[in-house]
Parts: sequence; C-alpha cells; structure tokens
Amino acid sequence: MANIIKVQKGTKDILPQEMGLWYKMEDEARRIFSNAGYGELRTPIFEATELFARGVGDTTDIVNKEMYTFEKSERSLTLRPENTAGVVRAFIENGMHRLSAPVKLWYKGPMFRYERPQAGRQRQFHQVGVEMFGVKDATADAEVIELAVSYLNALGLNDLEVEINSLGCPECRENFKSKLKEVLKPYFNELCEDCQVRYEKNPLRLLDCKVESCKAIFEKPEVKEVIQGDFICEECANHFEELKSYLDVLGIKYSVNKLLVRGLDYYNRTVFEIKSNNLGSQNAVCGGGRYDSLVKNLGGEDTPAIGFAMGMERLYSLMQKPEDDKLDAYVVSTDKIEALKLVKYLRDNNKKVDFDFAGKKFTKQMEKASKVANYAVILGEDEIKNGAVSVKNLSTSEQVIVSQSELLSKI
Ligand code: ATP
Ligand code: MG
Repeated sequence: MANIIKVQKGTKDILPQEMGLWYKMEDEARRIFSNAGYGELRTPIFEATELFARGVGDTTDIVNKEMYTFEKSERSLTLRPENTAGVVRAFIENGMHRLSAPVKLWYKGPMFRYERPQAGRQRQFHQVGVEMFGVKDATADAEVIELAVSYLNALGLNDLEVEINSLGCPECRENFKSKLKEVLKPYFNELCEDCQVRYEKNPLRLLDCKVESCKAIFEKPEVKEVIQGDFICEECANHFEELKSYLDVLGIKYSVNKLLVRGLDYYNRTVFEIKSNNLGSQNAVCGGGRYDSLVKNLGGEDTPAIGFAMGMERLYSLMQKPEDDKLDAYVVSTDKIEALKLVKYLRDNNKKVDFDFAGKKFTKQMEKASKVANYAVILGEDEIKNGAVSVKNLSTSEQVIVSQSELLSKI
C-alpha cells in the first residue's frame, strides 16, 4: 500500500459537520458589520514581504519568526499572517481616502503563522475583523469595541472580559519607554532572551511577555509603580477617558489592563483584547486597537484608523455545538426511476432530501429514513399507480396519503 500523506502540522480540515457553525460565524459577521456600514473586502492571501515588515513591524514575533515567506521570480512573497496590513494596502491603492470618512471595511479568511501548534494555536487559522478609517474621535473606538461585543453575543458568547489600555501617542510613549528601561536595567540579565532584544528595540513590547520569570519582574514594586503609573499626555488621557465614558453609556463592562500592549508595533492610544475564561491558556478571542500612523507609514495620506481581529477557531471552540440537522425527507421507493424524479422535484422546491441509491429492501430504507430524516416519503406500487405518496412523520409515526401536488405542504 502507498504511504498516507497527512495534513500538515498546525493545519486542519474543516469537516462538513462543523460547517454549520462556520456559516453562522460568517453570516453573523456579514449581518452585524454591514448593518453598521462596513463593506466586505477580500485581499489576496499573499503579498509582498515588505508590506508585513513595514506594516506589522520588524520587532514583532510575527515578522521575526512566524512568516511563511517564499521567493518567486526574484520577488519575496509572504502568506498573510494577519489582514490589517493588506487592508491598509488596498485602502491606499484603491484611493479610498477620497471617499467620505469614515471608510469601514470588514474581512474574514485564512491567515498563516509559523508557530508552535497547541490548543487554540494553529499555523493556518482564520480571522474575522473590521477596520475603520478616518475618525480620530473616541466614538470610533467605542463603536469598534461595541461591534466586537455585539458580534460575540450574536454567536452566543457572553462570558467574556473586555480589557482596554491606552498606549498614548509616540511622543508621550518615549517618556514611558525611557522610564521603563531605567527601572528594568538592574534586571536586564534576568530577562528572557526575547525581552533582552525588546529592551533595546521596543521596550513597550516587554510587557507582552508570557515568560513567568519576566512576569515576576514586572511585579517588583518599583517596576510595577512605573507600569501602573500614568504616562500618557493630557490629550491622550482625555481620549481614553472619553472612550471609557462611551463604553459606560453603551453598557459595555471592561477593565483597564496596563500590561496590555498587544503584539503588533503599529498601535497607538487605544488597545483592547477580549478574553474568555473557557479557553485555557490561549484565552484571547479578539485583539484590536488604534493605528493612526500606519496608513501614512505605508505611503498613504495621513489617516487615523482602528480595528480588531478575532480568531475564528477560538470562537468555534466556544460556540454551542448544534445537534446534527436532519433531512426534510427521505424518499423510500422500490422504483429507482420514480424515486429519482421525486427527489429532483423536492430539491427543486428547496427541500433537503435524499434517497437510497442501492435498491435496498423496503424495511432497510425505512430504518435509514428514521435515522436521517424528519419524514419518510413512501412511493410504493399503489402510490405510483395513483399518482400519490404516503408521508410518514418519523417522530410521531403518523402517516397520511396525499397527492404529489399536496406533498410540499406536508414536509
Ligand atoms: P497571541 O498573543 O495569542 O499570540 P496575537 O497577539 O498574536 O495573539 P493577533 O495578531 O492580535 O493575536 O490576532 C487576533 C486574534 O487571532 C487572537 O486574539 C486570536 O484569537 C487569533 N489568533 C492569533 N494567532 C492565532 C493562531 N496561531 N491560531 C489561532 N488563532 C490565532
Ligand atoms: Mg501571536
């Protein structure tokens, strides 16, 4: 026997019985986001590598360790690890800054990151997300967070925690970065390897570290004081206060987490995450924030923006699994040709129907019907002669004879 080729590590087939919930995630996204004025954008799965190096940031894990990069015709290409950079590229390339603000876009689709696979972490996974361009005001931040919560609620997910933080603007952040470096200096040798690099390149990202020994350092009183202290400028602080008051108005519960900096380099001011207590260690279902400098950094007009992305596999694992849905009817017949014709007629009329291809005995066909369908539609010799069918309700066992024209209203 030939050896079996297996699915690649960190990738998965999405099977037919799982599709119901995937459709639900997609349908609710389309409904909720389009009600709020967001149009769907589909960008290519691969882009120029440089887009991610510049758009996600070359001090991030994503760009440093996780990209699927390959070369074709001397061009360096990368499978998208996330979609914000691609959406911004498309925004610029299609001249969307000329549209009246805000420009609102949403997307869904596969993303690729070379990570260590574990529960809730794959190498090909799916995200659904929104991006809003052109509004600096904190009402935009509130709308985006509200949309995320509404979407999660529509999927039946209510046991969630919204965490927010403000990273301030690049100017007020400089001050914080130098204070942080100063207070961490005595601990430099105890920081993990990654954090030692971050210390030089992007000290804010230190706070995102998941290594226990680093987390312990952030708990030292003098370090904690710096982290918990207020470093953002007055304007940024006002923006954050406004956001909080809007969330209060909208009835959205949140907590402020000063360690929340998020993995990507481009964020400023608002960052947020939504976590579930039912997911184990990979507990974030949604991450987002404001990225006012990204459009300009990628060569577009200076345009403020904010958005979020959710991991769909993590949403899936939290959603209530439905019972298998049954066929409307299973056609039971001793005449394959009559069965074929009736099945086509019912399907043409939007009924979910199947029948026996193998010409099994009547009793076997009835057994199958009661397993897979709500009704058995029986075409015996008498019925065929009389242009009628018997319809059996498989949960009550009630059976009636009807003409074929009455059949549709019976099942
Ligand atoms: P994490 O800290 O879990 O690595 P991240 O900061 O890399 O998350 P984002 O880039 O903000 O995550 O992506 C947004 C969401 O996408 C995450 O909250 C998570 O739900 C999902 N996600 C990210 N990476 C993966 C992955 N490898 N497999 C499955 N879902 C993922
Ligand atoms: Mg990650």
